Amino acid sequence: MKENSVWAKVYENICKDTGRRNESSKLIVVIRLLILSMAVYSLVNSILIAITSHIGGLIFSITSLVIFMLAFVCSYYWSSFTSYCALNIYVLVWTIANVICFGWNIGVQHFIITLLVFCFFSKYRHEKAKLIYTAALLILRIYLYYYCQSHVPVFTLAPDLGNVLQMVNTFFVFLSLALTAYIFSADSQELEGKLIEYNRQLMKQANTDTLTGLYNRRSTMEFLDSLLQNPENQISICLCDIDFFKHVNDTYGHDVGDVVLKKISDTFRKELPPDSFISRWGGEEFLLIFPKLNGDDAVIALEKLRQKIKDIVFDGVFETFTISLTYGLVEYDYHSDMTTILKEADEKLYLGKESGRDRIIF
Ligand code: GH3
Ligand code: MG
Ligand code: MG
Repeated sequence: MKENSVWAKVYENICKDTGRRNESSKLIVVIRLLILSMAVYSLVNSILIAITSHIGGLIFSITSLVIFMLAFVCSYYWSSFTSYCALNIYVLVWTIANVICFGWNIGVQHFIITLLVFCFFSKYRHEKAKLIYTAALLILRIYLYYYCQSHVPVFTLAPDLGNVLQMVNTFFVFLSLALTAYIFSADSQELEGKLIEYNRQLMKQANTDTLTGLYNRRSTMEFLDSLLQNPENQISICLCDIDFFKHVNDTYGHDVGDVVLKKISDTFRKELPPDSFISRWGGEEFLLIFPKLNGDDAVIALEKLRQKIKDIVFDGVFETFTISLTYGLVEYDYHSDMTTILKEADEKLYLGKESGRDRIIF
């Protein structure tokens, strides 16, 4: 749609909100669209009735048209809730008057169903009030049916005109229902989608480390705890630590240190078996969990990793440098608890540091 086209301006005006805080902008749009469709309906009715020169019916339809146009204008000055209540009252009074004037056969009573759907989709809470309103609408519809059984309509329409009005009514009832359902369901679907995405991001933030994107200590402990409770395979756990990392920071700066941490994390992801659980345990320490590897297989995987990391050449601005890690590896014995295993891995890591670093102790 062109930005300056007449339709764009009309659309913009319909969507104009009431300027009040805490009000659903979608609700006022639906209210205005419903009022407009009722106004168009009254206009079509007026034309159809005018063709058959039925003066009483014509006055009724033109009065309806004027009232709906007034309601449309008022929706820019009232709060959404006032407009919502006013629309319900107009449509109810108008439906009753229509049924009394033109009878049951032209099908105006179906607009009551539009009100019912509108009431449940609107965001106002008060579930009890909605249920009471539903019961009231049901009683009204049944009452109108029995009223028509015992009373003749005020205006007797030609059978052909009655049929045409029945068609027009059906069209506008469908239009009102579709408009209400479309706008409100699009609203809730969009909201639901946003919530799912927001939850996913929250979960990710809670479980991962921002710098490296690896699992953080909290999620690692949760994972390890659940893994040790139902061990299906042999499990190996490795605690590893960058050698002389303080020296990297002191010599090349903290930013270069961060680059090293990220690069090493990427290398873990790339080089370790796909089902490995890789986490940043803290600072420059990482905990690697291999849920399907025994100690010997884990040593092979770690040896390959150790070489790959040593091969990486880092840019220290005025010179290049390489780094290494020391690895403390433990094979789960099926009965130790998490604290004991982690302590054992830490002791092996310490042993590796003491005996010269850049090695795997198993
Ligand atoms: P070792 O071989 O005994 O492990 O020596 P090290 O220098 O690696 O160990 P130390 O514990 O003395 O120093 C660890 C350093 O890691 C100190 C700390 O500033 C740095 N560090 C921890 N977290 C980060 C981080 O997120 N970014 C950067 N750039 N440095 C970090
Ligand atoms: Mg270190
Ligand atoms: Mg350390």
